[in-house]
Amino acid sequence: MKPIFPKRIALIVILSLLAVCEISADNENDQIPQPQIPEGYKNKTIRLVGGSNYFPYEFLNEKGEPDGFNVELIKVVMDKLGLQYEIHLGLWPDVMAQMERGDADVMLGVINSKEREMSMSLTVPHSKIYLSYITRAEDRLNSIYSLSGKTIAVDRNGISHHYISAAGITRNLALYDDTSIAVQDLEKGKVDAVLCPSVISHLLLKANKNKGLKVHHIDEPYYSLSFGVNKGDSELLTLVNMGLMQVILNNEYSDIYKKWMGSYERHHVSRPMAIIFLSLVSLVLVAGVFVILLRYRINKVIKRLCHSENNFREIFNATTEGIVLESMRGEILDCNQGALDMFGYSKEEFLKIDPDLILAPNRLLREEQLAYLSNHDFYTYERMARKKSGLVFWVEVSLKKIILDGQETTLSVVRDISLRKKSQKELMEAREELIIAMRIGKLTAWVYDVNNDYFYNLHGNLITGKMTIEDIFARMIPEEVPRYRSLYQEMCSGKRSSSEYILRIYSSTAPNTILSYETRAFAIKNDDGEVIRLIGTQRDVTEELKMRKELVDFRVRTDFIMKSTGMLMWLYDTRDRTFISSDSLFVRPNIHVGVDEYLTYIFHEDLNNYMDFLDKMDVHTEDKLNLEYRFHVPNVKTPTWEVVEAMPLDRDENSVPIVYIGLVRNNNKWRAMADNLIKLRLKAEEANVMKSSFLANMSHEIRTPLNAILGFSQLLYSAQSDEERAEYVERIKKNNDVLLELINDILDISKLESGSLKLFYSNLSVNGLIDEVFNTFVYKKKEGVDIRLALLEEDIIVNSDKLRLIQIVTNFANNAQKFTHSGYVEIGASMVGSQHFEIYVKDTGIGIPPERQKSIFERFTQVDDFAQGTGLGLPIAKQLSELLGGYIGVESAVGKGSRFYAVFPCCKS
Ligand code: ADP
Repeated sequence: MKPIFPKRIALIVILSLLAVCEISADNENDQIPQPQIPEGYKNKTIRLVGGSNYFPYEFLNEKGEPDGFNVELIKVVMDKLGLQYEIHLGLWPDVMAQMERGDADVMLGVINSKEREMSMSLTVPHSKIYLSYITRAEDRLNSIYSLSGKTIAVDRNGISHHYISAAGITRNLALYDDTSIAVQDLEKGKVDAVLCPSVISHLLLKANKNKGLKVHHIDEPYYSLSFGVNKGDSELLTLVNMGLMQVILNNEYSDIYKKWMGSYERHHVSRPMAIIFLSLVSLVLVAGVFVILLRYRINKVIKRLCHSENNFREIFNATTEGIVLESMRGEILDCNQGALDMFGYSKEEFLKIDPDLILAPNRLLREEQLAYLSNHDFYTYERMARKKSGLVFWVEVSLKKIILDGQETTLSVVRDISLRKKSQKELMEAREELIIAMRIGKLTAWVYDVNNDYFYNLHGNLITGKMTIEDIFARMIPEEVPRYRSLYQEMCSGKRSSSEYILRIYSSTAPNTILSYETRAFAIKNDDGEVIRLIGTQRDVTEELKMRKELVDFRVRTDFIMKSTGMLMWLYDTRDRTFISSDSLFVRPNIHVGVDEYLTYIFHEDLNNYMDFLDKMDVHTEDKLNLEYRFHVPNVKTPTWEVVEAMPLDRDENSVPIVYIGLVRNNNKWRAMADNLIKLRLKAEEANVMKSSFLANMSHEIRTPLNAILGFSQLLYSAQSDEERAEYVERIKKNNDVLLELINDILDISKLESGSLKLFYSNLSVNGLIDEVFNTFVYKKKEGVDIRLALLEEDIIVNSDKLRLIQIVTNFANNAQKFTHSGYVEIGASMVGSQHFEIYVKDTGIGIPPERQKSIFERFTQVDDFAQGTGLGLPIAKQLSELLGGYIGVESAVGKGSRFYAVFPCCKS
């Protein structure tokens, strides 16, 4: 296609413009505030990304470096801002993906569209893209709609693709990644048209000169081009916008634009414009070069100013921050849409409003600000502002003095920071809560920087100075160091993400004092999965552990005391009237037992006493209570005696006891001892009585023969005849015998009791012994009572005290004769097994009741108190038998008779 301007005319116009019009844009950028770079961006490298094959906007040049209009523009913007950056160009989908992931900060060349605005924040547009389509010259495809049904080549996912799809042409599309190849295919007839940005069509056509291709420009719609900033990074968005504003308002933007688009722009002037320009040129020719040049100069200046004004307006209004221009007197001169949106006023209202009401409530502050601005570029402050609705919110205001129309004015950039403030407040509150919680929990927290090997405090002052891990190990108990060393290694290497332990370290202030800390540590990793920090909380549990140990010791001691003394401890709660005890002897250990249930275990006779005892606790009459009672231990038949002592343990706010502690001990042993003592006392009393009766009896027994002896001795003097005298002598002799026997018995028993009785052993024939006693008794035989003899079938010789054996059998025989009134008395011996023999006396006398059979062998016992005798015979026989190595016994039935026997071993052991 031929250029619309003849080259020569164009050259004249340009040269004239350059010669005549010296447009000075110097100092213009001074009025644009130099933005303050937030701390976070000062040392940060901003990652800029873009497509690698969008010539002339962004592409990799022959050296493989990022180049093009967008690239150069952003570089100037970044340099203006003084930010560090790096540019990476790549395939469009990769670049988009990087932005979506948040791996990149700014994207070059973003077409303004709703979808894009959804995914990123767009700067104010910095240029426009028009579209063109290329056809073969012979094809008469003069309107975009004439392409319908033809094969159209578009750049894949590019603007042309977007445009044609939006125009409803979706069929017969050929998608290309490289438009120059599409142009080659157009020449070969493979496609009918190539749709692409005008600037590209221009360049491609230039390259394909004389090859019969034709470009058709499309005036509407056009696309605005912006930079895309990560959504949410409003600080960066503001910065880039301000940088862009500075670049647009001075010559730099025009120079870059001219460099990359300038030659094309000439060709792209639309047809009506071209006609105007042609007319202008004609006028120039007619009215003279000077007029033309002057007018052209004015036009150019106006155009430039309009361009700047428009750009500025666009930025002014597009930014979401509020921009307010105030006179030094404090009247609002102008504001942008952002300010109106922010405060909720219409422009008319806003221009009339007293700024004090919305921004600076106090003049002094304003004066302070202005004074500050006389030495500084910016005054940035945070304050509360008020919306039209009355709602108060937080804003950050950056104030700068600027000269506008020769007048000093202030420019405030107002940013709504309510959200930031809110989250800051929440963060502060959360932090405060955390600190309070840590204080309450007596927690301290530390951080260990793994790479630099040092600990520092997060909360509290646990770490003093700069401590390394070895400093910590040095304070630990040496034997425990290896364990902690491996634990820390596991955590630092990422093998273990958390751990809990009791750390024991020597106190730094009190030597030899070991402090115990309950510690929880967590490993924090970076994006590469390396552990960079350990964070830990610690609680000093030294006292707690000490107390716990003392408590355990105390429990062990108490348990031991309780167990060894057989005591049980319970607690009684007066509020719900329940007992509880952990003792295994308690009816239901560790379970609350109500009084009703507990009383079922109390022995019925002691129930009233126990209820009194409970009442005393319930109404609290005494501080020390005790009771002895019987208790039915489960599964034990007889109730056990128990003694309980109780006293208050816990009291309510009025000092009234609510919990009593009771100690219960088994009293069976003491009870048994007491019972025994009572029995012994009774027995002693009984023995005393018996002794008295024995003495009375004895004196009677002694006096009777003595009286007889004395009486008959006196009668001897007055005896009339020899017969009479002989009878008295006989009676005296008889009573002498009785007296002698009695005294012998007394002597024997006292000898036996004192252990001084002597035995005289000799070999003797058992049958001989029995026979001897028998002969004595035959001689004393009572009328009606036979005396029988029962000898061993085979006599045996034993070694024993013959006289004492005779004494035993004689005693048996005496008694038998005394208590037998008919029948017989049998004196005999028999073998008991092969090793023992017995000597016995059997009678058919009165017999002895069973309950007396045992006691007759005890001293001073007589079955019948009125019978003659001392009651010493059998006890003597019993003790003699035992002295001779044998034992004594009786079998008897009342009315039938008795059999007394003494059993001895055949051989003396
Ligand atoms: P005593 O000298 O009084 O007879 P003993 O010790 O020999 O004393 O006897 C004690 C008592 O045992 C007698 O008083 C009598 O009551 C009873 N007794 C002993 N032998 C017999 C027996 N063969 N038949 C019935 N009662 C007997």
